[in-house]
Amino acid sequence: MAETLENKALHLLGQVMSEEFGQNIVSLGMVKNITANEGQIDCILEFKDLDQRKNEKIINDAKNTLNEIPGVTKVNIITTHHRQNDSTQDQKNRPIEKTHNVGTNEIKYILAVASGKGGVGKSTIAVNLACAFKQLGYKTCLLDADIYGPSIPKMIGVQEKPLSDGKKIETIDRYGLSTMSMGYMVNDENPIIWRGLMVMKAINEMIEKVNWGKADIMVIDLPPGTGDVQLSLIQKIKISGSLIVTTPQDIALIDVVRGLKMFEKTQVPILGIIENMSYFLAPDTGKEYKLYGESKTKDVSEKYDYEVLANLPHDPLLMDQCDKGHPLTELVPDHKVSQIFLDLAEILMKKLKLEQLAKTN
Ligand code: ADP
Repeated sequence: MAETLENKALHLLGQVMSEEFGQNIVSLGMVKNITANEGQIDCILEFKDLDQRKNEKIINDAKNTLNEIPGVTKVNIITTHHRQNDSTQDQKNRPIEKTHNVGTNEIKYILAVASGKGGVGKSTIAVNLACAFKQLGYKTCLLDADIYGPSIPKMIGVQEKPLSDGKKIETIDRYGLSTMSMGYMVNDENPIIWRGLMVMKAINEMIEKVNWGKADIMVIDLPPGTGDVQLSLIQKIKISGSLIVTTPQDIALIDVVRGLKMFEKTQVPILGIIENMSYFLAPDTGKEYKLYGESKTKDVSEKYDYEVLANLPHDPLLMDQCDKGHPLTELVPDHKVSQIFLDLAEILMKKLKLEQLAKTN
């Protein structure tokens, strides 16, 4: 019988050495999981500590080794760190955590969509991605935490106010998504000037008072930057993974790097980068044109070892439908851009599952 790709990968990883321990990474038990699917290999490596320099060499060696296997088109190395306390018997006996508690609600995966600056398409991506998850059959929630400029209500065409019995606030269901936004509570004419404590209070309400119920995934649209809201949220809920949205221009890219650093410090796994408006897709000919010249996103992602998970075109229909309150992925699921969102949702779900697996191993 032919050797499976997983076995071949494991066998070859047995040749990758840890200089520190003078042994290969398989016998050291660092290879926690390998999955192979249509030429893509996802591999989880566990490190003893956060020493970037030592880890980087092993990651690169593993990546290069796996890339050499005939038929392999993509290699994705996910890293995790061994925590001392986890080895105690108590911790070992703890049941595997399957859901995140958001207030009294149970949600399996929480995905935060972040960006260094506004206007890069973060909310557009959060909404369309949520629709894509729903179309793949996952019960999906969408939380608009961009309290400074909530744009989700307009993007999904919500004008009404949520119902409340004074204790719990009900979500507004649109396109099969359970949604909540601070934009449902305040009106456009009277923007609130949010201060630190108010931000905490608003975030608490959206997490604890909202009846989200049980769900497979919650997509959170974070405000741009690295301010109070992101930190409050990260302290409050255990975010399973984050996505960073950028555009090909340099200025946005620098902010992305800042964003990545913040997430690293707070231990939120970064699942990858989405480059939005990478090119213009001519609606008549379907031809692609680069709007901003050659992108620098790839350089940054390689330098920090984050994957660019998708390149989205500048598409007039996407913008038009967002402005009208109809997410394109919902309205025209077989549109080229909708297909990108559906593929992205599949990749992300896979990554979220791997991250959870790495945490419970
Ligand atoms: P952010 O949440 O980062 O501030 P938005 O998602 O609100 O950004 O997008 C800003 C504007 O750009 C919106 O008008 C939106 O419709 C438009 N937009 C976003 N992504 C695209 C795209 N790929 N093609 C065309 N227009 C886009």
